[in-house]
Amino acid sequence: QINCEPLKELIRTVPDFPKPGILFYDITTLLKDKTGFAQLIDAFAAYYIGKEIDLVLGIEARGFIFGPALAYRLNAGFVPVRKPGKLPAPVARVNYDLEYGSDALEIHLDAIQPGQRVIIVDDLLATGGTMQATVQLVRQLGGEIAGLGFAIELDFLKGASKLQEYDVFSLLHYD
Ligand code: IMP
Repeated sequence: QINCEPLKELIRTVPDFPKPGILFYDITTLLKDKTGFAQLIDAFAAYYIGKEIDLVLGIEARGFIFGPALAYRLNAGFVPVRKPGKLPAPVARVNYDLEYGSDALEIHLDAIQPGQRVIIVDDLLATGGTMQATVQLVRQLGGEIAGLGFAIELDFLKGASKLQEYDVFSLLHYD
């Protein structure tokens, strides 16, 4: 397994974004670094190679950045999970609660064939609500969830406890 800890130096933290009191972990500084980006994809690939993954699902928007690169390396397809109203063909939809208010995500109904082995990726695991909602979409479509992958996990928010049934893999942990 690749040691990813040095990648932390490439992640920028921005205080009070998007609102006061929030410390935002910004991966754009990692993505623009050619060695860092390659290590990020290589580390994910090393974990999932050999697990017969059919599809990589990326959650809008930052899951779209490295999901396709990983799919290419795994010889898998890529499926976008999008905010409402963006996908053109018939969709399944899930509504979920945020700290203040609610949000929704959609997937094309024909994006997953029953029994296909799927991993879902996003940049960061915080409370786990976004991933939990996406898991519901995949289950509705009959996909088999082979794993949930994150670049960053904020351990102190205990999001993984909402996802206990699944294989959760995070490259970098913060507590
Ligand atoms: P959760 O649903 O609380 O786990 O929040 C995770 C979602 O919020 C992911 O889609 C992340 O992209 C986004 N998010 C929350 N905090 C951060 C952050 O510090 N940096 C980047 N994205 C974040």
